[in-house]
Amino acid sequence: MPENSNEGTPRPCLVCGESGAKSLHGGGGPLWRCRCGLVFVDPIPTTEEISTREDEAFHGGLIDETTEMFSAYYRDYPDDPVVRGFRATVRRLREMTGGGRLVDVGIGTGLLLHLAQEGGFRAVGCEISPGAAEKAHEEFGVEIRVGDFLEAEFDEPLDAITMADVVEHTPDPRLFLEQAAKVLRPGGGLFVAVPNHRSTLYWAADLIARIPGMSAMAQRLYVPNHYWYFTPDTLARLASDCGFEVKEVRGESPYLGRYSFSPLVKLGLATLIRLGEWTGLEARAEVYAVRRD
Ligand SMILES: [Zn+2]
Repeated sequence: MPENSNEGTPRPCLVCGESGAKSLHGGGGPLWRCRCGLVFVDPIPTTEEISTREDEAFHGGLIDETTEMFSAYYRDYPDDPVVRGFRATVRRLREMTGGGRLVDVGIGTGLLLHLAQEGGFRAVGCEISPGAAEKAHEEFGVEIRVGDFLEAEFDEPLDAITMADVVEHTPDPRLFLEQAAKVLRPGGGLFVAVPNHRSTLYWAADLIARIPGMSAMAQRLYVPNHYWYFTPDTLARLASDCGFEVKEVRGESPYLGRYSFSPLVKLGLATLIRLGEWTGLEARAEVYAVRRD
């Protein structure tokens, strides 16, 4: 078998800057784990390849289990845990900032944007995919600017920014947090949510990945359009590096109701998620922070 040309020499860590990350599942990549806890993909696909994958993910072609995600709208789930979680996020951001102008970066279905508006923010989405923007606008009537957040300019400083399940899809999360700090007012609030690698879910995935013949199953949790797997510590450290004062780091559990897994897989995942709640090793990590002066 040809050797991976990248073996032994992944690039320095995005969070701590150190070299020498170790291959996560052996075999020299493409997943690497730094001593600080960050797991990352190296090499990262080209921007073109990334945008193709995002488009496939949006159209439900990338991972079978998420086919329903973009049709599982609010009207079918008016009070599920995702809605309750987003409402709590909006409340928290209002307490931190007093409300005002909020930009939701990477709108997903548009649900968080809609709930931010409902929660009293003047909320606008910033979305790179025209298809996702159109769909969310149709569904919720929300205002969305189509384009790259890294190049976005706003006519006044923002009061709050939300990035739910966004930075792990980007080639450089540091640039996203730096841009957030740039366009927020001092004291403006930031919410970032990502999958948490320091969780029972990824612990199980890494265990399974080492069993011969089972790695394909473990790879399902390392989805093809995620390039960064943060822990609560690495996410908070990055936010702090980018000009934020971290107010709260918390774990959150994913809600399986919107995924279409087989019953057996669902049972296994539900068990791991419950274990995560008991042990504090939940499958998602969230950071609330404010921009330093
Ligand atoms: Zn590191």
